Amino acid sequence: MKEIILVKDGEIVLKGLNRRAFEDILKKNVKHSLYPIGKFEVTSAQSTIYVKPLDDDADLDEACDRISRIFGIAAFSRAVVCDEKTLESVMKTAPYYLEDVLKNAKTFKVEAKRSDKKFPYKSPDICREAGGAILEKFPHLKVDVHNPEVTVYVEIRDFGAYIHADPIKGAGGIPVGTGGNAAILISGGIDSPVAAYMMAKRGIRLTAIHFASPPYTSMRAEEKVVRLLQKVAKYSGTMTMYTVPFTKIQEKIKSDCPEELFTIIMRRLMMEISERIAKQNDCAALITGESLGQVASQTIGALQCTDEATDMVVFRPLIGMDKQEIIDISYKIDTYETSIEPYEDCCTVFTPKHPRTKPVLKYVKEAQEKADFNELVEVALENLKTTYIKPDND
Ligand code: ATP
Ligand code: MG
Repeated sequence: MKEIILVKDGEIVLKGLNRRAFEDILKKNVKHSLYPIGKFEVTSAQSTIYVKPLDDDADLDEACDRISRIFGIAAFSRAVVCDEKTLESVMKTAPYYLEDVLKNAKTFKVEAKRSDKKFPYKSPDICREAGGAILEKFPHLKVDVHNPEVTVYVEIRDFGAYIHADPIKGAGGIPVGTGGNAAILISGGIDSPVAAYMMAKRGIRLTAIHFASPPYTSMRAEEKVVRLLQKVAKYSGTMTMYTVPFTKIQEKIKSDCPEELFTIIMRRLMMEISERIAKQNDCAALITGESLGQVASQTIGALQCTDEATDMVVFRPLIGMDKQEIIDISYKIDTYETSIEPYEDCCTVFTPKHPRTKPVLKYVKEAQEKADFNELVEVALENLKTTYIKPDND
């Protein structure tokens, strides 16, 4: 019995003339994602992508699992390919292929789609005949066209006849790589991995930037970030992570700037350095996990001060979300348990007792200029550590 995965495009159907380019990127993403688990042929026709295993022992469960995380896919179905494109073959295959679900159900219906108009039977005939064959094998079943427990889909397409059960919901979004490149400022917390996931969902290819302040932050904190990114990469694909040595800069902030401005000046320097790394990596935007009002550095005034440090667009996909909503997504993408591991982030190293929630840009800039971080910024940029991130199941 030969099986195949039929993938339905998501939002890309809306893209008119660009559609072809979008679909090509989606196909490439599917190929990349399946590459580590075996040989698959990935082709497209009639707004469907066909994923055909080329090895007999290909792991289709694993393939479906991977496909469920690829953005740009509305739904997909694991289907059987009938031996022949004939009504007889459909009637023989349907009860057999879906035996497990049919034998435990009480009601069913058949839905037929005939996109090959040369097929000699019309959809209602296919439904009737296939339904009859199923009832013969499972006489306990009843047909319920309105609210069936199981729907048996028969698709008569140009290249063959396929049978499958209900399609599985895809990851939605648009294919990674169609939205340009952006750099995610990633900490070990709950929020930034979720922000990374959300922007990848909108087609962004990610580069990651992490600020580390050893010995105040440990090697394990950095490893934790790597593990988080490996989970994000299951959705976003591979990425490069740059670790910025931030200790000297943070120590200088502490010794040379007013305490209530520590955090805001640190965040501005993070933006400045990130912009430089982003530009070197062909990224046109920065991404953070900030959410309005969550902490002192995430008020409107503080965000304005942070934004002023960069000319780049800053995406903050979590800006209007509650913590619980963010946590729900972190569970879904399996980053939560890792995020709550207790390693210190550089942001918490020198937190002032009374941070300014309404910093005045003019004073912040003056304080930053007076301390003069230019040289240390250059040194940090010369000493970036590069880590190549792959999905944790590759
Ligand atoms: P998170 O859960 O993502 O750490 P948070 O609510 O703890 O966010 P902050 O610590 O104020 O908030 O950080 C706000 C944002 O700044 C983070 O979402 C992240 O994008 C960025 N950021 C914070 N710390 C770092 C770091 N060490 N390296 C890179 N980016 C960071
Ligand atoms: Mg944090």
